[in-house]
Amino acid sequence: MNKAPAKFETSADKLIIPLPTPAKAGDKFDAAIRYEGKPSKGMYFILPDKDYPDRPKQIWTQGESEDTRYYLPTYDYPNDRLTTETILTVPASWITVSNGKLISVTDAGKGLKTWYWKESVPSSTYLITVVAGEFDELKDTWHGIAVTYYAPKGRGDRLAINYSRTPAMMDLFSKKLGVDYPWEKYAQVMVDDFVAGGMENSSATTNSGTSLVHPQLAPEYPAGQDALISHELGHQWFGDLVTCKDWGDIWLNEGFATFMETVWSEAHYGKDQADYERWERARAWFDSTNLWSKPVVRHDFDDSSEFDGNVYDKSGWILHMLRHQIGEDAFYRGLKHYLEANRGKNVVTADFAKAIEEATHVNIDQFLGQWIYGAGAPKFDLSYTYDNERHQVALTVKQTQNIEGRVGVFRVPVEVEISTAAGPKLYNIAVSKDKQTFSLPAQSAPLMVLFDKGGHVLKSAEFHKEKKEWLYQLKNASEVADRGDAVVALGKIKGDDEVVAVLGDTLRGDKAWGVRVTAASTLGQIGGAAASKQLLEALDTAKEAAVRNGIVKALGNFKDDAAIVARLNSIAKEDRSYRARAAALQALGSLKAPNAFATLDAAVAADSPDGFLRNAALRAFGSFGDDKAVPLLLQWSAAGKPIEARTAAINSLGRLQKDNKDITKQIASYLTEPHFPVRTAAIYALGARGDATAIPALEALLKNDDLSIEMVPMIKGQIARLKKPDGAKPNPRGEEGQEGDGEGGSASEKPGASDDSAGVTQRLDKLERLVQEMIERLKTIETRLAPPKN
Ligand SMILES: [Zn+2]
Repeated sequence: MNKAPAKFETSADKLIIPLPTPAKAGDKFDAAIRYEGKPSKGMYFILPDKDYPDRPKQIWTQGESEDTRYYLPTYDYPNDRLTTETILTVPASWITVSNGKLISVTDAGKGLKTWYWKESVPSSTYLITVVAGEFDELKDTWHGIAVTYYAPKGRGDRLAINYSRTPAMMDLFSKKLGVDYPWEKYAQVMVDDFVAGGMENSSATTNSGTSLVHPQLAPEYPAGQDALISHELGHQWFGDLVTCKDWGDIWLNEGFATFMETVWSEAHYGKDQADYERWERARAWFDSTNLWSKPVVRHDFDDSSEFDGNVYDKSGWILHMLRHQIGEDAFYRGLKHYLEANRGKNVVTADFAKAIEEATHVNIDQFLGQWIYGAGAPKFDLSYTYDNERHQVALTVKQTQNIEGRVGVFRVPVEVEISTAAGPKLYNIAVSKDKQTFSLPAQSAPLMVLFDKGGHVLKSAEFHKEKKEWLYQLKNASEVADRGDAVVALGKIKGDDEVVAVLGDTLRGDKAWGVRVTAASTLGQIGGAAASKQLLEALDTAKEAAVRNGIVKALGNFKDDAAIVARLNSIAKEDRSYRARAAALQALGSLKAPNAFATLDAAVAADSPDGFLRNAALRAFGSFGDDKAVPLLLQWSAAGKPIEARTAAINSLGRLQKDNKDITKQIASYLTEPHFPVRTAAIYALGARGDATAIPALEALLKNDDLSIEMVPMIKGQIARLKKPDGAKPNPRGEEGQEGDGEGGSASEKPGASDDSAGVTQRLDKLERLVQEMIERLKTIETRLAPPKN
């Protein structure tokens, strides 16, 4: 203490150093702490072992939310900040990455080198990072700032294809926000077995190695890994430069980073792409019924790691709504002021409100009151009549959400577009009551009435329109959200050839791929010979992998159709798209198609980039449900096989021979493995299996002291599932989200299907589709589900 030796004592979670003399508040002391140890978490060692002898050595840390303290004796809560110097002595062939600038690399003798990193811009302790190991490096720059990318040794050829858009993102965000990228360099390190999808450590993001998509597969994803990359980059401003003061206000980190994903999408891939992402996210959020009653800002969690999914998609949406309501210029003026006024500080939501008001003179207290401190969203019931004499549309707007708890009646500005033969006209209305009727002029009977044109309010809507109006809307609406809504509404009209034909036209001809994919899945839900004909025809012309994949998935709805099974079999064997081939394997499994066993078996035996098709086949064995697959799945779940194949096999094992306690035991034996993805797969497989004999193993795991971020609620959720008698069906989003991609994700706060008897099969089909969609999303984004943390 102050350079003199000091007395100290330690407890399980504290280091206590008595001050040499009594002190007043504000007095300063320097404490130097020399220590050594083997951290149980916070810092992770991914090393070769007998099962994986060739794995590149990787050491990495994960601080958020409060795990930095496990390897660094420090105050560890986000409401304080510090600068760091990180001095690392490692084998000479290794690379290290830490916060700030690389000052020097010097020879330390004995085959070692010493790396010296210095971060002179203060940030919170959960943003400290240390990575060291055998990595390939790719160097780039942005405005003279070093931009570097790292892959575990041997995968350096995957960096450019997945990550090279980073400088363009830095450029865009700096311009949009009016505040230049604020750190001294930007590194992105991809590591194996990462405990999350990505982590925005200041100036040095760590991402999951699964984001290093094989060069042959990468082009099949319309926006590549950009959601993850832009999210973590967005955090460098929101989260790192300006940091939430406590975890209850974490939306100030996550909601903004999620919003920045769309900023990039819109600028780089165009408005349709951004609109589709937003439209999809609204649907996903409404499906996550457990999030409904919870406000975005909450303080009612016991553990800092238990904040929930509202801080991601819902919060990103809220920022979009704010932008739309106050206008692009005012919104970004507000963000710039927020960043400048709070640069290097820790904030709560009130600081954001204040900054917006100061910069724009718009008071957003009511807005934040209903969206951030309140819960839910408006659910509208809409209808209109046309008065021929007065030339007026009477639009009746009802809010049907249950008004209870934190969910109230919403006050929202809405744009209504009425199209007549004379053309479209836009009207602004303010919805503020549970039932209102708005009179709007229209020269003649409307051809199309759009409530919330373009979809700028987080809402669900039941608009009572006739078939011909939906068809008109699908063909003529200019915005993705309105055409998407029309597709969904038309999907509820069964057995109508005209509807099917128009959806087929949409599938082939809509200018937005997202609408085409939605048309495909809707045709799948409608079913019948006319719908399958449209899908099969579209396969002949559809070029994009995302669309082919959507069509093949939709074909997985048509049971007992030999022609479809034959087509799926041929796609599984050969198609220009690996995603379509994987979807075909999955569809053959869920259709329980005759001879599917042979096709899946052959796919497991064959090679493909990163075993992509093998993993799909292993996964498909779960829904195929033939216990004959158990020996094969046991073989592929075993240590030594590629991690992604193991997680797929473990997941399927969870669904087979459910009364076989040996399988339960085998899966439980994977709980204590060091590989995070294998662990999570085992946790969920045991939950899905429903065999209560697994409870003690899960409870024992809960007592381990090395559980990283996300694991505790994950385990608790599956124990609860096993304790619930005939219970919970698989959960749509968390359930398999971790499978094969190691990105975490938890079912614990997710709704799952109810266990009522009626319609269970139908619900399960829907859940399976959702699961598949989520697997794909989770591959490209960081975990945004309960209790996500990045
Ligand atoms: Zn994040």
